[in-house]
Amino acid sequence: MKKLIFTVILILLLTPMVYAQSSNRPYVILISFDGFRWDYPDRGLTPNLEKMAREGVRALSLEPVFPSKTFPNHYSMVTGLYPENHGIIYNDFVDPFNGLRYKVGDTTSVRNARWYLGEALWETAERQGIRTASFFWPGSEVHLSYRHPSYFKYYDGKVPYRARVDTVLAWLRLPEAQRPHFITLYFDASDTEGHRYGPNSPELNRAIERLDQTLGYLLNGVAALPIGQQVNVVVVSDHGMTRIDSTRTVAIETGLEDLPHRIQGYGPLVMISAADSLLPKIYQRLRERQNHYRVYRRDEMPTYFHFSRHPFIPALLVVAEIGWSLLPDHFPGAYLSKARGNHGYDNHHLDMHGIFFAVGPAFKNGYRCGTLRNIDLYPLICRILGIMPRENIDGTLERIEFILKNGS
Ligand code: AMP
Ligand code: ZN
Ligand code: ZN
Repeated sequence: MKKLIFTVILILLLTPMVYAQSSNRPYVILISFDGFRWDYPDRGLTPNLEKMAREGVRALSLEPVFPSKTFPNHYSMVTGLYPENHGIIYNDFVDPFNGLRYKVGDTTSVRNARWYLGEALWETAERQGIRTASFFWPGSEVHLSYRHPSYFKYYDGKVPYRARVDTVLAWLRLPEAQRPHFITLYFDASDTEGHRYGPNSPELNRAIERLDQTLGYLLNGVAALPIGQQVNVVVVSDHGMTRIDSTRTVAIETGLEDLPHRIQGYGPLVMISAADSLLPKIYQRLRERQNHYRVYRRDEMPTYFHFSRHPFIPALLVVAEIGWSLLPDHFPGAYLSKARGNHGYDNHHLDMHGIFFAVGPAFKNGYRCGTLRNIDLYPLICRILGIMPRENIDGTLERIEFILKNGS
């Protein structure tokens, strides 16, 4: 009996500590404005981003990983891995060992866990007993129960922006035990309008305003929550955008007619595979006429691309000069009459850089810093949430923690 009373007292004494610990745990909302270039916030159209900069942290830019495309970059942000290590090497690629294809827009392939290596932040957090949620994020809708957030949505670009925010706020009003501490949120407008009308268009400016208003709606909603003071809001973009036009094109397959090959992608970069015996010839011909593009063999990619290790990366990579488009010969001529902006180029080019704004109890106030790297977001957010990140990642906490209030 004595023992029982002792145990009960011990439990009663410990319970408030455990509760206090979990109820003090911060929250992180990670928001992506697709294709929102690093300098868009300087157009005077984004009062809510400006407010975040005044009250929190603003980086000069956020450097994407190569290739500066949507899926590789979103998955790098939540895994801390380069695409050569997390496996989502492009928006559209083939497993050469069995011919299976991964393609954005093909829901079957996008939801198949086989493509996704590494561990996404929501898996890391859930493994450590923390609920997570996602209102869209590449990789969040895989069909494997322990690899997706507790709450997630199948991608549907038509869901109104305010409805997405309302759902996030509703998640944050759930009872403590069901409430997610890490939430992702995604909006495409800056990418969609940037492609269609170009980065200098009035249409793109309207998209910038719309996104900033959506952000204001979210920030007001968060401030009104009982746990509002514990919420960190991080706004990023996956890459930037550059102007393209029909005068800057290269018919990349011209001169290769007698050399059977397979070409993947178009525009800023193409990947070429062929029989081993033909590759040196293809490489040589592309190199001879190298003009407004660079051709690389897998073993001679610039090291900062970190783009050679994964076995699905084809033997040859051709990267266009910024603003130029590589078009296979069969490509419909209408492409460039419809597109005015693109991304996917060299990730060191500033036009490919995105944004980083963050506000909340974890972040310094009114702090401006230089370029950050998006692979460092995973260890940063793990640190804020107080969880152990996965080992053997490419991201580094030491490179980014200086933006935290209690950072090094
Ligand atoms: P891109 O400009 O080709 O790199 O990709 C941008 C497009 O990816 C957006 O316009 C969306 O249509 C699409 N997209 C973004 N997130 C998702 C997602 N989670 N699932 C499917 N498609 C997505
Ligand atoms: Zn994108
Ligand atoms: Zn895009």
